[in-house]
Amino acid sequence: MKNLIKTIIEHQKAFFNSGKTSDINFRKKKLIDLKKEIQKNEKEIELALYKDLGKSSGESFLTEIHFIYAELNIAIKNINKWAKRKSVRPSLLNYPSSDYIIAQPYGITLHISPWNYPFQLSIAPLIGAVAAGNTTVLKPSEYSENTSMILEKIIENVFEEGFVKVVQGGPEISSELLDHHWDYIFFTGSVGVGKIVAQKAAKFLTPTTLELGGKNPCVIDETATIKTTAKRIVWGKFINCGQTCIAPDFLVVNNKIKDELIKELMTQIKNIYGDDPLTSEYYGRIISKKHLDNLSSLLEGQKILHGGKIDATQKYFEPTLVEVKDFNSPLMQNEIFGPILPVYGYEDFDEIDGIIKKYKNPLALYIFTKNIKFGEIFLHKYSFGGGAINDTVVHIINDRLPFGGVGNSGMGNYHGEATFKTFSHFKPYITKPLWIDIPLRYPPFEGKLKFLKKVLKLIS
Ligand code: NAD
Repeated sequence: MKNLIKTIIEHQKAFFNSGKTSDINFRKKKLIDLKKEIQKNEKEIELALYKDLGKSSGESFLTEIHFIYAELNIAIKNINKWAKRKSVRPSLLNYPSSDYIIAQPYGITLHISPWNYPFQLSIAPLIGAVAAGNTTVLKPSEYSENTSMILEKIIENVFEEGFVKVVQGGPEISSELLDHHWDYIFFTGSVGVGKIVAQKAAKFLTPTTLELGGKNPCVIDETATIKTTAKRIVWGKFINCGQTCIAPDFLVVNNKIKDELIKELMTQIKNIYGDDPLTSEYYGRIISKKHLDNLSSLLEGQKILHGGKIDATQKYFEPTLVEVKDFNSPLMQNEIFGPILPVYGYEDFDEIDGIIKKYKNPLALYIFTKNIKFGEIFLHKYSFGGGAINDTVVHIINDRLPFGGVGNSGMGNYHGEATFKTFSHFKPYITKPLWIDIPLRYPPFEGKLKFLKKVLKLIS
């Protein structure tokens, strides 16, 4: 594999250095071709997502395929505007000059993606990388193998190998790829692996986007409308079987409404997935037996309020509600990333504050309240990736909202124009004529300083 990776990188360097990707029309055409190829393979993508994660075609379309069409449409429509040289007002100190910013591609980029939204999370960064004129090696997850195969087929049909190439494999291959010098690395995955990526990137000072996970609190105060709150929580938590990085990880609910909310959560689980979610076409599956076992071990010693059924042969894990008794239990220590929803009842705000601070920099934070002012004060107070008042997960839908984590949950962001910006170095430069040379800046300063200070005062 070592030699193969070396060859792929050489091809990518040669392709980038050929200057082909500096042509905006070429980039645009490739994005249009990519869209057509995805349209052609829509059914196969849905089938692969069903095989990997038991996703219904409706869920696959909404959360993976349509998401990508939307990102492609925005990039195709705006690429000329995004890539255009921008003229900015010059500084008087440089008079006369013309000042510009150009968006320059980094060069060869490496993308490593996870298994939970394996299509969307592989293609969305790629759109920005291509729009900005980079080449890409994509290493999708070894767990979502069916989707990884269709990704490879689509990429092969659209891009020259030196432009975009899929490399299949697990941690060893990923690690080998990371041993090389890339011009940009885009990683989506766990915090632990994110740290490995950051360490490897540091060797070459490679700029990196890290889209990581976290334990996302969801607070419900006593004013929240129970039915809508429960419905939106159940939707955001159990979509893709809880395997969503911005799903609410656990609930912190006012004791005055806790019992009522739990009852309504159970009702909403039934409304959405029926009496037996195992037979629901809308309820997904856990990605692997290993992940299922990890999840089931989290239930040991817990008080189960609802659910808890597991069918290992079908990688099925019932939507499950659990009472939080101990914040030091494994369930409350790490990101759950599955269909277990712990519920904790609070008495006063100080208690919430302590809990939120314990899970530093989550990827998402949610609050349900009728008091929007309070909700805003709450969201402004803490450091987290992104969030919502009175809903869960939906902030990811708007391409005008940059998506990403902070601190423990990652660095950098993307979606819409933000993806183009992620893969561009914004290079400033100025042009000056040679026919005039104002002497103010050159020593000796005697006789000039007073005038210079006046000018500086005027323009500052
Ligand atoms: P993971 O970190 O185990 O794997 C992600 C990718 O890294 C895979 O392609 C994998 O092959 C590779 N990898 C694994 N071990 C490696 C190693 N030692 N060295 C180099 N590469 C390695 O994550 P996962 O289990 O695929 O995905 C789940 C995690 O991803 C969760 O923590 C979730 O919150 C996070 N996630 C974050 C976002 C986001 O946008 N912030 C989106 C989806 C998932």
